Amino acid sequence: DKIVPDQQSTLHKKEQVAEMFNNIAGKYDFLNRFLSGGIDIIWRKKAIQQLKALQPQTILDVATGTADVALMTYARLKPQKIIGIDISEGMLNLGKQKIEKAGLSNNIILQQGDSEHIDFEDNSFDAITVSFGVRNFENLLKGLREMHRVLKPGGKIVILEFSKPRWKPFQMIYNLYLSIIAPAFAQLFSKNKKAYKYLNNSVRAFPEGKQFLTIMHEAGFTQTYLKPLSLGICTIYCGSK
Ligand code: SAM
Repeated sequence: DKIVPDQQSTLHKKEQVAEMFNNIAGKYDFLNRFLSGGIDIIWRKKAIQQLKALQPQTILDVATGTADVALMTYARLKPQKIIGIDISEGMLNLGKQKIEKAGLSNNIILQQGDSEHIDFEDNSFDAITVSFGVRNFENLLKGLREMHRVLKPGGKIVILEFSKPRWKPFQMIYNLYLSIIAPAFAQLFSKNKKAYKYLNNSVRAFPEGKQFLTIMHEAGFTQTYLKPLSLGICTIYCGSK
């Protein structure tokens, strides 16, 4: 069968992203904590907090990676079930080990899955979480539409993603950090400077703030709002169905 170029490149990029995360999986948690000075834990907790009032029982954690958010969500909200999906087997394997160690294998289930073709029926989940995932999607709108499809009416999505600080002096320091310092540390600890160069480029290229909320609307979400964190390095985006 002939593959149209568009499909071919989609496949290619997705495989590249999965391979990149497979390669850094072993160092991913350490580098996250180290490069963020541990602040990423506070960001994740603040994101999960957005679901507290809803008391969701079934949660889908998209691009779950090593399952940090899935584990924290379980600890804080005690839902019946969390399903985590990710395209990287290497990241999922580490996540599974962490879940097993926590004795939560019956409560948090990880499986390989693509955000742009979610293997669940319409209206399946009370809530969806995505932390530092949407930036990596091949087709952002398609991914958001899929998540909207599997969310139950009345359900809520919480997205945590990097953004760029607004305050000029801080912007300069942050740019320096992201473009030079973080890749250098990544090289030192994981021998994978490329992945952190990708981080820098993908943060720069990603739509953020109100522009991102507009895309969420386009995907079907309502009652959207955003909360910038840490001078705007990171933003929580929420929406309902
Ligand atoms: N959510 C985790 C966290 O907060 O640490 C992992 C974030 S990590 C920066 C991004 C993850 O997105 C990687 O594990 C990668 O494999 C996954 N990913 C990228 N594209 C994806 C897609 N189309 N569908 C599912 N997962 C995807």
